[in-house]
Amino acid sequence: MALDAQTRDQLIDTVRRFVAERLRPLEAQVAEADEVPAAILADMRALGLYGLSIPEAYGGLDLSMEDECLVAIELGRTSPAFRSAFGTNVGIGSQGLVMFGTDAQKARWLPAIASGEVVTAFALTEPEAGSDSASVQTRAAREGDAYVLNGSKRFITNADTAGLFTVMARTDPAVKGAGGVSAFLVPRDLPGLSIGKPERKMGQHGAHICDVVFENVRVPAENRLGAEGEGFKLAMQVLDRGRLHISAVSVGVAERLIVDTVAYASERRQFGQAIAGFQLVQAMIADSKTEAMAARALTLETARKRDGGAAVTLEAAAAKYFASEMVGRVADRAVQIFGGAGYVADHGIERLYRDVRIFRIYEGASQIQQLVIARETLKRGG
Ligand SMILES: Cc1cc2nc3c(=O)[nH]c(=O)nc-3n(C[C@H](O)[C@H](O)[C@H](O)COP(=O)(O)OP(=O)(O)OC[C@H]3O[C@@H](n4cnc5c(N)ncnc54)[C@H](O)[C@@H]3O)c2cc1C
Repeated sequence: MALDAQTRDQLIDTVRRFVAERLRPLEAQVAEADEVPAAILADMRALGLYGLSIPEAYGGLDLSMEDECLVAIELGRTSPAFRSAFGTNVGIGSQGLVMFGTDAQKARWLPAIASGEVVTAFALTEPEAGSDSASVQTRAAREGDAYVLNGSKRFITNADTAGLFTVMARTDPAVKGAGGVSAFLVPRDLPGLSIGKPERKMGQHGAHICDVVFENVRVPAENRLGAEGEGFKLAMQVLDRGRLHISAVSVGVAERLIVDTVAYASERRQFGQAIAGFQLVQAMIADSKTEAMAARALTLETARKRDGGAAVTLEAAAAKYFASEMVGRVADRAVQIFGGAGYVADHGIERLYRDVRIFRIYEGASQIQQLVIARETLKRGG
């Protein structure tokens, strides 16, 4: 639901101040400790950030996609690890339930997800099923009033803290592709479910990914999300939405980097003048600004189309492809304009350069977005 303009502006202003005053001063500390402080997580809960996309009836803010993107842009102005703490609750961890859940499933889980009492995770990727996600092999075999899950998931964001997993597993081994996959709500405390150690990563320290292993985990049949065989479709619809959120975060990080770059280039003097006066430096600033503006426009226009009820598979893929590649180029130019200072840790530029690299890989790598864009364009005839 769209907020009225005044309430929307107030929310964005509050998030902007929270980012500037509470989160930005902690960026280096969070990266060093590989942990977001508990007090910050409590503040995020109090601000309602875990429930941005959840219907008001279940305690969320029920933002329109456009408003969610505007909030995500603000959150992009700091280390993406902060957003990751509640990002799964807003996106991939909750939206299968919001779109496909029964009233009983929603009533059971959504209030705790919206408040942040329960952290969620989305478990699609497996060691042998990454981009080819329809080939998941985790098995869900029906036995009486339960499904028995066996298999393992890889690189699952927030698995270490999650209380609830949306798990895509194969219910029909005779069907090799998407049609044999179903989705399940799997509480963490079910016997047989175990979590691996957090992986060491290139960036976004403070946000964790782990393996999730299922050994004869009995999941009650009432925890199946949507119809049998519809799990892959559910996952793709959740990802369509998630791609817009990631586009918006990419725009936010790019805008932050441009502000930092302009400030530095205006201060740093070489050859007797500020480096911002050199046209070769200005060209880099111009390219970054132009690309960030284009990504912002594409992301918000696609969000508005989705809010209007349009199918945006092509547009969401195009936004995610362009925005995630764009922020990579903007981060690279930022390092260049900062020179040696961009390469050492003090200014945080090299940290953001590493942080944004994952945007081109998860929720569908750039090559997968290209395939989706081409497929949909061919379908539409241009
Ligand atoms: C930090 C992080 C967080 C993540 N969080 C989650 C999560 O919460 N839940 C979840 O389920 N997964 C998660 N993932 C997994 C992520 O979605 C996958 O890593 C991603 O989809 C790519 O899969 P892959 O790593 O197996 O790469 P692969 O599929 O092996 O791809 C390797 C390369 O081959 C290319 N490629 C593959 N197929 C094709 C093709 N047909 N045409 C052209 N090129 C192709 C890819 O684009 C890529 O460049 C996360 C990963 C990371 C690193």
